[in-house]
Amino acid sequence: MANSKYEYVKSFEVVDKLLPNTWIVVRIDGRNFHRFSAENEFEKPNDVQALNLMNSCAVAMLEEFPDIIFSYGVSDEYSFVFKRTSQFYERRSSKILSITVSFFTANYVMKWKDFFPQKDMRLVPSFDGRVVCYPSNENLRHYWAWRQVDCHINNQYNTCFWMLVLNKGKTKKEAQDILKGTQTQDKNELLFQQFGMNYSNLPAIFRKGSCVFKNKVEEIVKHTESGDPVKRLRKKVVVSHCDVIEDRFWKDHPWILDE
Ligand code: ATP
Ligand code: ATP
Ligand code: MG
Ligand code: MG
Repeated sequence: MANSKYEYVKSFEVVDKLLPNTWIVVRIDGRNFHRFSAENEFEKPNDVQALNLMNSCAVAMLEEFPDIIFSYGVSDEYSFVFKRTSQFYERRSSKILSITVSFFTANYVMKWKDFFPQKDMRLVPSFDGRVVCYPSNENLRHYWAWRQVDCHINNQYNTCFWMLVLNKGKTKKEAQDILKGTQTQDKNELLFQQFGMNYSNLPAIFRKGSCVFKNKVEEIVKHTESGDPVKRLRKKVVVSHCDVIEDRFWKDHPWILDE
């Protein structure tokens, strides 16, 4: 490599290596999706195809980058965790962040037509991103719990809000005032009393958000001469809408945190 007197500018680059032996979480969030969703006429409060598109992009992420072991998404956000021992881009923060954001965004644009065949995309989507390292499994578990609780709170509020606006003809201001200061139980009551709606019967994708991870699935690899199937366990990227707050999920999928 030829040297030059200009080479010293390289030394201005700062080292941004992430702490070793920590879980690397990258969270991305759609920029100005309030407007993006309105321009593209997403259904309120939840456009299921928009969520499926986000999930499909997350699946592509896990298939492309083996160090990502789990991800969780809701609304216009997605969080990806890289395994503790990951040496992806030598754990350089800006590399990991920019690769995640650009690969996800490129997929979002590329896959749009698969999920919205009737709609041309209005506005150019973009996502912001951040990287956070978590030292313990407990911290990481609490991270997912934090996002899923947030999903619940927002979804319950939004469900009430849009029911009042779309089905009761309330203005957005009136709906806001009605919901001001209400607790979880009040909102469940409101949905039941006024709309005969049982919140817990709403689709899990809305209430719980989406998990994308590698699951062990049994696969038939061949058949014996007598016609019996020969099965093998294989890891396959799956989407599921499970509870990540309780122990159950982590006990059933120990390989995620144990690597
Ligand atoms: P990475 O592989 O992580 O992207 P990088 O961005 O530092 O590393 P490259 O993208 O391969 O490196 O190259 C960028 C440019 O910087 C190239 O033109 C290369 O010649 C130059 N370069 C890379 N490392 C040095 C160095 N230590 N000193 C001077 N120039 C360098
Ligand atoms: P910022 O750039 O600060 O993130 P934002 O407008 O994206 O601003 P968020 O807090 O990220 O604000 O909220 C995302 C908004 O996108 C939601 O409030 C909702 O209006 C809309 N949205 C995202 N996904 C969906 C969806 N699947 N269905 C309907 N609306 C959605
Ligand atoms: Mg956003
Ligand atoms: Mg958001």
